[in-house]
Amino acid sequence: MAYVIVPELCTKDNLCFDACPEACISPAAEDANYEATDSLYINPELCTDCSACVAVCPSDAIYLADDLPAEYADAAGRNKAFFN
Ligand code: SF4
Ligand code: SF4
Repeated sequence: MAYVIVPELCTKDNLCFDACPEACISPAAEDANYEATDSLYINPELCTDCSACVAVCPSDAIYLADDLPAEYADAAGRNKAFFN
């Protein structure tokens, strides 16, 4: 299991990026692809389910993969695909 960011809900305020102790949220603001990316994404291979990102997200954009709202069910695959 891993946490998942719903791109449609993410405002890219980077609060989760700063809160994550595992550095598994991308892209970083200084990355070349940051401006062209519509959302931050969580690497499911690195996420330890600590939920620190959920606690700081003001947009309720982060869910456990199994708890994603039905209309955002494809978000888990989109987070994973960002790192492939
Ligand atoms: S649950 Fe923890 S490890 Fe996973 S993305 Fe959020 S802050 Fe990082
Ligand atoms: S804290 Fe929430 S709104 Fe902010 S960048 Fe992370 S997922 Fe997006």
